[in-house]
Amino acid sequence: MTTSNEETKKKVVTRFAPSPTGFMHIGGVRTALFAHLFARKHNGTFILRIEDTDKEREVAGSIEHIIESLTWLNIDWDYGPNTQNNPFGSCIQSERLESYHAYAQKLVDKGLAYPDPYTKEEIDSFREQADAEKRPFLYRAHRPETFGTWKLGMPLRLKVPHIKRYTWTDAVRGELSAGEEMLDDIILIKADGYPTYNFAHIIDDLEMGVTHIMRGDEFISSTPKFLSIYDALEIPYPVFATLPPIMAPDGKKKLGKRDGAKDLLEYRNEGYLSEAMVNFLALIGWNPGTEQEIFTKEELIAAFDIDKIQRSGGAFNEEKLLWMNKEYLDTKSEAEMLSYVIAALPESTTSLPLYNEDTLRRLLPVIRERSHVQTEITAACKEGEYDFAFSTPNPEKETLAWKNDAQPSDALPRLQKAIELLTNAKWDSKESIKEALWSYAEEVGKGELLWPLRVALTGREKSPDPFISAFVIGKDESIVRIKNACAKIA
Ligand code: GLU
Repeated sequence: MTTSNEETKKKVVTRFAPSPTGFMHIGGVRTALFAHLFARKHNGTFILRIEDTDKEREVAGSIEHIIESLTWLNIDWDYGPNTQNNPFGSCIQSERLESYHAYAQKLVDKGLAYPDPYTKEEIDSFREQADAEKRPFLYRAHRPETFGTWKLGMPLRLKVPHIKRYTWTDAVRGELSAGEEMLDDIILIKADGYPTYNFAHIIDDLEMGVTHIMRGDEFISSTPKFLSIYDALEIPYPVFATLPPIMAPDGKKKLGKRDGAKDLLEYRNEGYLSEAMVNFLALIGWNPGTEQEIFTKEELIAAFDIDKIQRSGGAFNEEKLLWMNKEYLDTKSEAEMLSYVIAALPESTTSLPLYNEDTLRRLLPVIRERSHVQTEITAACKEGEYDFAFSTPNPEKETLAWKNDAQPSDALPRLQKAIELLTNAKWDSKESIKEALWSYAEEVGKGELLWPLRVALTGREKSPDPFISAFVIGKDESIVRIKNACAKIA
């Protein structure tokens, strides 16, 4: 059975179906985002379903983590684990056991499922025997002649309905096929009464009316098994759309923990903006076919479609994420940026003697220009890059010396002249300070004036230019600092 045109015209329903086995990472969220964008694009429905039938692998707190991650990124769902009066009863598999049991019973009644009569030891010995004979182990080679009566508490297996080569169409990868060696009498319901993923997700997709399944390529090899379950149930296939893998930055292997496959919420803690993250994720394995790189959520929804999802892997490029975050930061107002920066300041900065918000506001353009994300701001603060704004430096005599001067004291008359010029200067912007000094700098040499002046103001060899530094520091304090420097080199 293939998907007919009529079926594709049905209202789009997609789902994201994570297993609560740990934190959400980039790959998982990208899957959620694509399924969400596709549903929104077609005014369809997006479902968040929790696949928690493997109780041994479950990690406490995962469901909350999934919800928090998706909520952070504004990937909202129409039905999910927290939906009241859910038309599907529940979107948590462990709360839907009755459905799985009912469909299992239907298959039993049709003679297409049977209780597994073997002990684990017996199955292990079949497998060892196959290994010894160097042939693949297939359970169906040991299928019993007659089926016993199934009761909950017994593992239930599918009697695979057709042993044949399966060919199916993937909306991204095109035609795929796999031979009969991929088909087996797989477990549908385990001895503990829980369904396997293989069975449960098909029943859920059926009951929830899912039209399009978007998921990673690790499911391609299992697809023939899934198709045999659809066939046994005599239900139509949904559209399969396999998303390309997310590759490490070198593009050669799949993204692993070492390359940054970390907890998504760590990015939030590092100061990445939700909009930047969504924009970044959307472009991993999808592209609109234009040069456009910055998209609002609405633009993404409008531009998104399955035909522009790539087949080949998309590289995870943290440099690009940094760049994108800065693009979004640049659109923030002064007030927004101020609170963003304040949240990044370490105690070692806020405890400096001259720390105050007015000075910080004047420093803001400097921080803004140099930073892509909060962690960079924190690191720069810890390096002391911005200390000049909030504490009086004590520059070394040698650092004050301009390279062309024979000795530091050569700069004394220039700094004294600067004091005079600055005393009469307007202090309303870095430009007005520059204006007060510029013709004198051109006269005596730019390095000759600006180097010692900048070191006098900031105490450091590398720092923002003296005009912005003086503006940030304020007039009185700037003059005090230049006088201190003069005393040092005199
Ligand atoms: N629960 C599966 C997983 O987390 C979902 C696979 C699917 O989307 O069908 O990998």
